[in-house]
Amino acid sequence: MATTVQTDAADLKANSSDAVIRVEEVHKYYDLGEQKVHALRGVSVSISRGEFVAIMGASGSGKSTFMNILGCLDKPTQGHYILDGTDVSELTKRDLAAIRNRRIGFVFQGFNLLSRTTALENVELPTMYSRVNRQERERRAKDSLELVGLGNRLDHFPSQLSGGQQQRVAIARALVNQPSILLADEPTGNLDSRTSVEIMQIFQELNDKGLTIVLVTHEHDIAQYAKRNIIFRDGKIRRDELVQNRPVASEMLKTLPTLED
Ligand code: ADP
Ligand code: MG
Repeated sequence: MATTVQTDAADLKANSSDAVIRVEEVHKYYDLGEQKVHALRGVSVSISRGEFVAIMGASGSGKSTFMNILGCLDKPTQGHYILDGTDVSELTKRDLAAIRNRRIGFVFQGFNLLSRTTALENVELPTMYSRVNRQERERRAKDSLELVGLGNRLDHFPSQLSGGQQQRVAIARALVNQPSILLADEPTGNLDSRTSVEIMQIFQELNDKGLTIVLVTHEHDIAQYAKRNIIFRDGKIRRDELVQNRPVASEMLKTLPTLED
């Protein structure tokens, strides 16, 4: 870690007992037969409950590899990942899947909605594995859609929704099982700039309600809506800093032109 520039954010969070995410000296190698790619090279970081972190860094710097580990989609080759007090580095694939389903909500660049399925049904999908009845599952899905401002679009199919609305359905789906953390990999990558700020408004509102959010973005403007920025370079954390003068997305939207203008 000698090459890592540590600033106040890292110092503040390093010993936090309320860490929902604790990553300790994580390395990740991709084994391509003859060739090994050393994608993460000793990453250590803590993220507390209620934080809102933007991960940045050049293409190939290890952001997605890091997110896949946080999301229990992949395991470190070396080092530890402690999620909500459980060391998940040692778990079997089956146990990882169970943790993923219960504790983690994912949002991707491409929305990944089922096209022949309504907004409500899309959001209900992740509840199928939980032991609650149909009515309760539907109620949770509705609540989740209302939370992202889509209570009036329950029966719309993805093709009948704008890109921003589709991403909001994906956010509602990610939230429906009440996860400990929301992970988003380039969630505004396919959206125009105003719609991107609308998505950041939703993230800020959810974070204000206590949700822990980690998102990847390559856009500096988008990263400013988070509370903390972590910058990767060559598989390591290069910088870790608190955002100064964070913009409020709902205020920013008042200054941005709408599509009709
Ligand atoms: P980023 O998301 O910052 O663009 P990635 O985490 O996707 O970076 O990639 C980090 C490094 O690991 C890159 O050199 C990339 O080519 C390599 N890599 C990523 N995924 C795989 C994989 N599944 N197999 C082999 N190499 C991979
Ligand atoms: Mg990536």
